[in-house]
Amino acid sequence: MAQKLKIYLVNQAGDLNGRFEDSHRQTCAATLKTYFEGVIKGSAKYDSVEVTWGGKQGDPTAFDFVCYALTTNKGSIVAKKSSGGTLGISGSTAVTADANKLMISEVYLRQIVQNGDERSNATTNREALVANCIMHELGHNLLDASAPIVRDVHKMKDGVILRDTDENLLKGTDAPNEADFKAFREGFGRRAQGVKQYTGDMPS
Ligand SMILES: [Zn+2]
Repeated sequence: MAQKLKIYLVNQAGDLNGRFEDSHRQTCAATLKTYFEGVIKGSAKYDSVEVTWGGKQGDPTAFDFVCYALTTNKGSIVAKKSSGGTLGISGSTAVTADANKLMISEVYLRQIVQNGDERSNATTNREALVANCIMHELGHNLLDASAPIVRDVHKMKDGVILRDTDENLLKGTDAPNEADFKAFREGFGRRAQGVKQYTGDMPS
């Protein structure tokens, strides 16, 4: 039976002095919903998508996604809970070091919205850019941050959102293409048990 794909976004960044307030967050969520509606098109597992900035610890299942929006990587949950490795510039994804091996995805809003400088004005298409960075981290979440590795996200040559972003950061004018969608679909097919999400920093 097909189910709803739920994406829980957890805001721990406040509103970045008005540069990413509620209306921006809602636009970002709507953009992500459109992206993932492209992903699930023709999918047997999912028939609809919901993206919310709400939700509590007990809500997400292994067939949902959770992504934390932090101010900077100084508050990194990945750094605190995983067994190390370097953090990405705009976001990071890794499993918890404990036996539960829960998947943590996070993005750093000051970097994405203000190029890392709290005095800077907002970047072009900030809402789409945050959505793009979240989709990228969710690609790692599903495809290569734990076994089985479905696709090495940074080795993808044909994706727009799923590709090596280390030297060439995502832009607000980028939008996912069919290769991105296909990789997620492949991931949903290969991860029959889903991917257990880290919910420990959601409201209880
Ligand atoms: Zn990446």
